[in-house]
Amino acid sequence: MRMTIRLMLLPILAPLLGCAGGDRVVPAGVPGGPFVRVLGIAQDAGVPHTACYGACCEAARSDPGRAHLVSCVALVVPRQDGHDTYLFDATPDLTEQLVMLRDVRRPPSGRTDRRPVSGIFLTHAHLGHYLGLAWLGFESIHARGVPVHATPRMAAFLRDNGPWSQLVSLQNIDLHELSDEVAVPLPGGVRVTAHRVPHRDEFSDTVAFRVAGPSRTILFMPDTEPWDRWSPRFDALLEGVDLLLVDGTFYSGDELPGRRVSSIGHPLMVDTIERLGPAVRDGTLRVEFIHLNHSNPALDPAGPQRAAVRGAGFDVAAEGRDYPL
Ligand SMILES: [Zn+2]
Ligand SMILES: [Zn+2]
Repeated sequence: MRMTIRLMLLPILAPLLGCAGGDRVVPAGVPGGPFVRVLGIAQDAGVPHTACYGACCEAARSDPGRAHLVSCVALVVPRQDGHDTYLFDATPDLTEQLVMLRDVRRPPSGRTDRRPVSGIFLTHAHLGHYLGLAWLGFESIHARGVPVHATPRMAAFLRDNGPWSQLVSLQNIDLHELSDEVAVPLPGGVRVTAHRVPHRDEFSDTVAFRVAGPSRTILFMPDTEPWDRWSPRFDALLEGVDLLLVDGTFYSGDELPGRRVSSIGHPLMVDTIERLGPAVRDGTLRVEFIHLNHSNPALDPAGPQRAAVRGAGFDVAAEGRDYPL
């Protein structure tokens, strides 16, 4: 393992009183209900980053506690006979991220789990967000019909381009097309809704996912343009959201020497803190940053930038952290 998995805020799984029938879901809203677990917080290329020998990545090489898997969250829905698990994005760290669900997924012992998740929701076709699908293919576990939810453009990209097309033709994955702003109902009273967001859309469009449970709603938005390139719809998107897991690629505009951060196209953490500060301070919204670039100084848990994030009432997400829904 590249990192130590720390389970925080893990819901206590209560005895499943009142459940009958092998397929019945735990009643909504009780302890032991659905939750979201963070499986990775790094930008697409991870931490340590490919071929980076700067202080940020050397620190992560010498201290596994400073290493981070690529941005990903899982939805876990308890059932009487186990749990349904859904991934939001399929990252190059998929192999390790599946192990982080082992306590709830209860995989078959002694053999390969060829249906390792109940489904996957994809945000877009950039490397950190879909390359993990390859690990479902013939050269790996030769998965059996894992449902993959994607926008029509993203689904067409997978269907029409190798090697992804082989996952479809061999039925390793089963594509389900998402409609913008139409909820997908899941067990446990959970509803997942895709919302288009502005981003560099070379191969697919890009969405954020609203995950609404019986008690709380989480918006997962790992990649988007800076806020000044959004229309006012962003504020509407936050309506009813309790926790925003948001693009924290860069902390501020000066963190990449010799490169203009503004040209890469992400909201700066300092700008997000300014924009959403009032809602965070009055307690109507919690915001945690995800998808941090290896250069982001807020990755250092002892650094002044992390202290500033926390001081403003925000936080950096952490692998293994669970949020009850
Ligand atoms: Zn990304
Ligand atoms: Zn991207």
